[in-house]
Amino acid sequence: MIITNMAVTPQRKPQLVIVGAGFGGVRLARKLQGRSDLDVTLISSSDHFAYYPQLYHTASGGARTESYIPLTNMVDPDELKLVKDTITKLDPEAKTVTGTFGTAYQYDELVLALGAVTNYFGIQGLEEYAYNIKSISGAEKFKRHLHQDLIDDMKPDVNFVVVGGGPTGVELVAALPDYLRRITHLHRVPTPKYSIKLIEAAPRLLPRSTEHMSAVVQHRLEELGVEVMTGQTVKAETATALELAGEKITTQTVVWTAGVANHPFFKDHASLFTLAKNGKVEVNEHLEGRPGVRVIGDNASTQYSGMAQTALHDADYVAADIVRALQRRSRPAYKPKAPIAVTPVGPYWAAAQWGEFEIYGLAGFGLRRAADLIGYADLESWPRAFLLWLDDNRRQDDCTICQPGIAPAPPLPAN
Ligand SMILES: Cc1cc2nc3c(=O)[nH]c(=O)nc-3n(C[C@H](O)[C@H](O)[C@H](O)COP(=O)(O)OP(=O)(O)OC[C@H]3O[C@@H](n4cnc5c(N)ncnc54)[C@H](O)[C@@H]3O)c2cc1C
Repeated sequence: MIITNMAVTPQRKPQLVIVGAGFGGVRLARKLQGRSDLDVTLISSSDHFAYYPQLYHTASGGARTESYIPLTNMVDPDELKLVKDTITKLDPEAKTVTGTFGTAYQYDELVLALGAVTNYFGIQGLEEYAYNIKSISGAEKFKRHLHQDLIDDMKPDVNFVVVGGGPTGVELVAALPDYLRRITHLHRVPTPKYSIKLIEAAPRLLPRSTEHMSAVVQHRLEELGVEVMTGQTVKAETATALELAGEKITTQTVVWTAGVANHPFFKDHASLFTLAKNGKVEVNEHLEGRPGVRVIGDNASTQYSGMAQTALHDADYVAADIVRALQRRSRPAYKPKAPIAVTPVGPYWAAAQWGEFEIYGLAGFGLRRAADLIGYADLESWPRAFLLWLDDNRRQDDCTICQPGIAPAPPLPAN
């Protein structure tokens, strides 16, 4: 049942509960907060927003603020109810969701936007030893490891492996040569000969892009000093090595970007939803996973699910659909929208796919910067978005874990 079927009285407005304050949830909350005909509650397990597209940059010397944004900067707590809680239970009969500490939240309409989680596919040792950049804590742990390694014994790990040749793996591995050069200089360690490898199980990088783009990006990575190994699957990881089929790479630094899975909430509630093969929720033409429960962004089995732009597009559709329903207007069906993929590959260079067009190099990088500005503005006021966007240029090469007494070398000039 949708909220318009509820009796709207002056005493009681329909309750819209949004679970998850990521791209989809925040965008939807921003669109509907402050309406006189709707009460909006936004529940999230974190009081910050993770701007995933810049996490690779934060992990390699970019500012923390560009990828970790307080929710109160994005939504107005005077115009909606903002709650920090982790939802573990859905009861569609009682129309409630319940958080970890037992608080139940009543809804008339529910929107689930919980995002995806890292999938290690049960590969031995990965969860224990591999780094990941799926969260700000993951990105910072990786960055700390790079610095600590240089501080500890002045003999840093020289073998770096990024697993996963999708956009995240490509972005991160391409940023590493420059970042490692900077921080070895910062810690006054003679720059060693690094080996940086990118491992991908598919026959080519960026498997969702054109073959031409895969080839151009691979060439660019090789120019940056990255060894690209395609058609290779990871078998196991130990504290000192990564095992592939028939090969062992000595390393203490592996970053896993190769797998995501739908949020386990849906598996836990599998009897309430129809799940696609990839674990995402089948939705109808109004993005409902079941009556009164919309499922958007990474959780929904839509054509372009898995991209921030899709989560934003889904939220825009649901916001408009809810308003149309409240006003008893006709409700057109959801239409998927092809996202524009822009992958940065090292300093001032990006590969962009825009419909039929492929754009490379500085022009691609310009497009990415424009996309980031628009991305921030989709979620924040323009002045704040602009400041955040400027912050993307600020480097945090400085080492926050240096022992007192060790003065870092002056920073290298920018490339
Ligand atoms: C490293 C990385 C880089 C990326 N780069 C790009 C890119 O360049 N371009 C692009 O288009 N896409 C990119 N993506 C994908 C994009 O970030 C996702 O598609 C997008 O975040 C999906 O939005 P969402 O709203 O579905 O979920 P998310 O943005 O993941 O938000 C989920 C929210 O739900 C909250 N939550 C989770 N569980 C619970 C719970 N049980 N109770 C309450 N709250 C909960 C989380 O705290 C989070 O706030 C990237 C992803 C990663 C990991």
